[in-house]
Amino acid sequence: MKLQEKAENTSALGIYFHIPFCASSCDFCAFYQEAPQRAELSRYITGIEDELKVYTFADIETTVFWGGGTPGLLPASDLYRMGTALLNKLSKPPIEWTVELAPSVVKEDKIKALLDLGVNRISMGVQTFNEKYLRVIGRRHSAKQVYKAIDIIKHCGFENFNLDLIFSIPGQSMDDWLLDINEAKATEPAHISTYCLTFEEDTVLYSKLLKGQTHKKSEDEDAIFYEKTWETLENANFSQYEISNFSKPGKECLHNINTWRMNDWIGLGPSAASQFNGSRFANHASVEKWLTNMHKNNERFEYLNEISSKTFLVDSLIFGLRMNKGVNLKFLRQRFSDISLTPLNNLWQKLIEEKLVILNSVEQLYLTPKGRLLCDSIAVEIMNTFDE
Ligand code: SF4
Repeated sequence: MKLQEKAENTSALGIYFHIPFCASSCDFCAFYQEAPQRAELSRYITGIEDELKVYTFADIETTVFWGGGTPGLLPASDLYRMGTALLNKLSKPPIEWTVELAPSVVKEDKIKALLDLGVNRISMGVQTFNEKYLRVIGRRHSAKQVYKAIDIIKHCGFENFNLDLIFSIPGQSMDDWLLDINEAKATEPAHISTYCLTFEEDTVLYSKLLKGQTHKKSEDEDAIFYEKTWETLENANFSQYEISNFSKPGKECLHNINTWRMNDWIGLGPSAASQFNGSRFANHASVEKWLTNMHKNNERFEYLNEISSKTFLVDSLIFGLRMNKGVNLKFLRQRFSDISLTPLNNLWQKLIEEKLVILNSVEQLYLTPKGRLLCDSIAVEIMNTFDE
């Protein structure tokens, strides 16, 4: 079985490490992160080693993703120590192991440490190659650092790398954006993720928006960027497999597909969320609180909720439909046999007539390109159907 097929049918467990440190805060970012202090980093690594002891991953397949924050801020020795602690818990190497890196922190010794551990995928937050727009979104690295970082990872032997890009930045024209895509393509990544800039509450960008110091493109302008992105990357032989994700054949991110298929994952580190055995829970979003509460049964998590079959079904539909393959209704009926999918029939019929979805003879349901642009409102309609 190919890896891609495996992810669609997998029982692999996702393991996510949240590394909550950033040298500075980007203006668009709403993630929990802290400025790193040496003592704090040491306590963090020890905390991860302790938290790993809580779990048993014996004899199962896993995908691993280290995100943040900026995992690459950790020195090579800490990356290696944390990776070794993880590998000691696994009976077989992860089928995919991704580490997110910010361009400004990529150094040869860190990349070599990751390779030694068996990391087989790098994801780099480039956002844009244009200095002007890097400043607009408050990202502190330079375009020169991006090129240097990509050189280092390729020189060390990583061919399987992703570049994250952002579009719809205030002031960014379509030509500016197409230049970014071209620059990305020229570095020959295996995967490109393209995200529409969002203005999350509690971010610098959002407060600038409220003060009239920046502006947001309209939904119609965003839609034009989406469509042009899909067309341009498709022409460059990057297959779209999710609204924001494109890859060369066989290089889709298995860990993310696993999550969107509503399979289980365990999150370690402050603020990391998990979905396991029918529950969702999250660690405290502070290094201090995470460490203090780690061994207290009742206070270990910021929240712990049992999830109903209905919620799992709705989320399987919403996240599944964001993928180009869509969802298989027959499979979902079997997986959620205690819930009837019949209430959705009228919605599917309406969306088929509006040419927003296609339902084929083997009950595979997927969005058309027009439907993909409207996936958020389709998600609301799915939720409303079950609330009625
Ligand atoms: S976008 Fe990434 S690097 Fe920037 S503040 Fe957020 S987590 Fe840190």
